[in-house]
Amino acid sequence: MTSGVRACFVAAVDLPAVIDSHAHLAMFPPAERLKLLARARDVGVHTVLAPATGLEDLAVVAALPQEHQGVFVALGFHPHQARELDSAAKRELERALAHPGVVAIGEIGLDFHYMHSPREDQLAAFRWQLELAAERGLPVVLHHRQAWEPFLAVLDGARPVRGVAHSFTEGEAGVREVVARGLLVGISGMVTFPRADNVRAAARVVPAGALLVETDAPFLSPVPHRGKPNEPARVTLVAQEIARLRGEELGELERATDGAFADLFGVALP
Ligand SMILES: [Zn+2]
Repeated sequence: MTSGVRACFVAAVDLPAVIDSHAHLAMFPPAERLKLLARARDVGVHTVLAPATGLEDLAVVAALPQEHQGVFVALGFHPHQARELDSAAKRELERALAHPGVVAIGEIGLDFHYMHSPREDQLAAFRWQLELAAERGLPVVLHHRQAWEPFLAVLDGARPVRGVAHSFTEGEAGVREVVARGLLVGISGMVTFPRADNVRAAARVVPAGALLVETDAPFLSPVPHRGKPNEPARVTLVAQEIARLRGEELGELERATDGAFADLFGVALP
């Protein structure tokens, strides 16, 4: 009896239990969300951080921690939605931060690739939300795309905050810039893409305590699921590839990333 229980326990800890530090759960219909979170738990993914992107999903994301065990959220206006951040939207964001399970402001940053919001709106929304994070003592989930120099300049002009540069693409030199600012680096399934040498270079050199692993679901499905909708269960594939690149055991990577996540977002893990 005792040995049977122990065998079960050993099997459970042998599963690759990693955290998905960035999944857009609000982009899935509620019924699908339940199913994909069950699939995630089946492979040992016990904790998911879901970021908001703007007015459209703010209320849905804010309610997720009450609806799903192991789900924490970041609330904020993505650079694509920066144009929505008028004074009414600011009040709505400030109010929503009071929901249980809100652990960060995000995702926020700059995206000069798509330019869905004008540059000036992006800069203003990024600065205002960084100040809000500093005021509230919350960490930030940061988005950067084709805006690296202005992104760093805004961070340097703001009060210091803790946070993670998610879905990192800026290679080895970029890692040094981010880590020097006390920020963490989030590596996504891009690390499995044949042409993403910059992401692999970053994954190799991030210090252990500064690394988080993510899916960015429903985007960026890792190989061999590329092109299909991504989901938190696949964070295990991302973690396996990162562990391989770093020459680490998966368990070692998992312990380090769990610790970094718990420390950054101030959450207790199961
Ligand atoms: Zn995202």
